[in-house]
Amino acid sequence: MNGSKANGSGAAAAAATPNNSNDATNSHPQGHWRNQVKAPPKDTRHRTEDVTATKGNEFEDYYLKRELLMGIFEMGFEKPSPIQEAAIPVALANRDILARAKNGTGKTGAFLIPLLERVDLKQNTASALILVPTRELALQTAQVCKKLARHIRGLEVMVTTGGTSLKDDIMRFYQPVHVLVGTPGRVMDLADKKVCNLQNCKMLVMDEADKLLSPEFTVVVEKLIGRHLPSDRQISLFSATFPVAVRGFRDRWLKKPYEINLMDELTLRGITQFYAFVEESKKVHCLNTLFSKLQINQSIIFCNSVNRVELLAQKITQLGYSCFYIHAKMPQAQRNRVFHDFRSGACRNLVSSDLFTRGIDIQAVNVVINFDFPKSSETYLHRVGRSGRFGHRGLAISLITYEDRFNLYRVEQELGTEIAPIPPNVEKSLYCE
Ligand code: ADP
Repeated sequence: MNGSKANGSGAAAAAATPNNSNDATNSHPQGHWRNQVKAPPKDTRHRTEDVTATKGNEFEDYYLKRELLMGIFEMGFEKPSPIQEAAIPVALANRDILARAKNGTGKTGAFLIPLLERVDLKQNTASALILVPTRELALQTAQVCKKLARHIRGLEVMVTTGGTSLKDDIMRFYQPVHVLVGTPGRVMDLADKKVCNLQNCKMLVMDEADKLLSPEFTVVVEKLIGRHLPSDRQISLFSATFPVAVRGFRDRWLKKPYEINLMDELTLRGITQFYAFVEESKKVHCLNTLFSKLQINQSIIFCNSVNRVELLAQKITQLGYSCFYIHAKMPQAQRNRVFHDFRSGACRNLVSSDLFTRGIDIQAVNVVINFDFPKSSETYLHRVGRSGRFGHRGLAISLITYEDRFNLYRVEQELGTEIAPIPPNVEKSLYCE
């Protein structure tokens, strides 16, 4: 399928030379814009087929406006990933989408790029809404959106989530907002209060859609769509996991959705998975051994409860390793600080509850440890997907107690993957580059 241009930017389309980005730089009379692009240094690390098995499209093939192309190249995206190739043309053609692709393979770009191409800058109210399940993911998505759109003059992105001042958000709506990124409860609140007008919001993206359709959120999400969005809206659902529960929503709200499923296998190819069989009382000792033996660039260590997160973080600090912790019961300002500082590399290890299970993209994380084994295979899949971002290599190690043994077996079966016992020495080439 080829890119159907949904709204015009003819000059930009004319300036982009399809299929030949390098020629555009040198031989095309208007092509010098490529020389102005300040791309980051090339990432030369090995990438797996999860992101390299493409049809060979170029971003220029989609006739995107030049300002957007500049943002894309300045992010260091050279070519679309498989999910981007599959979703961008369909989204540009205004179809509803149900897209499933592995963690870390570029879903954010797959929905943001067509959305930014089509956003209506003539309206002062949002023409696109992106819903995500956590505040941290909202911040991250808004940041990526702003980066991609940095050359699109006048485009305003706003992020709105619980845990921040409602008054500040209300004031912000006196200014134009073109793209709104938020968590469902806060967006609903603002829309109900008529502070945020979604009548022109013709694009709705639900990232981590299955989480947004879990009992925690689904009532709010459906009310928001039913009450506040126009009937001629496009709805796109993205996730790595789509349990059966999503079907009901699809049948109620999506119009002939274009379904993309790039998950013929479930786990990422770049991630090697091990387990260590331990008694509960020996877990900290085991973690200490892992810390001393592994070459951790950055790690996320998952626990199953808020209390255990705090206790473990204390113990790791006592062992002499640098460590932050994060969970949903912390004040938002503190959560933001930890998220920001960990992302900027201020600390090697982060102990987390399932708050950080989905969507969080920190390329430096090469090791994920399940201090507590997760209850469902979906949670397992999302947790281990915090390493091995964009086809890179990573390690996932689960500490398994006697009680976890059946769960481990079930996760292996459901994901069709092998989680092997950890060898005495883990080869560095499996997770260090
Ligand atoms: P997902 O939403 O599928 O979990 P993300 O959208 O967070 O994955 O992307 C994972 C990482 O890959 C991010 O750091 C992002 O900047 C990078 N990335 C996305 N698309 C490309 C691309 N086309 N080329 C290079 N890197 C990309």
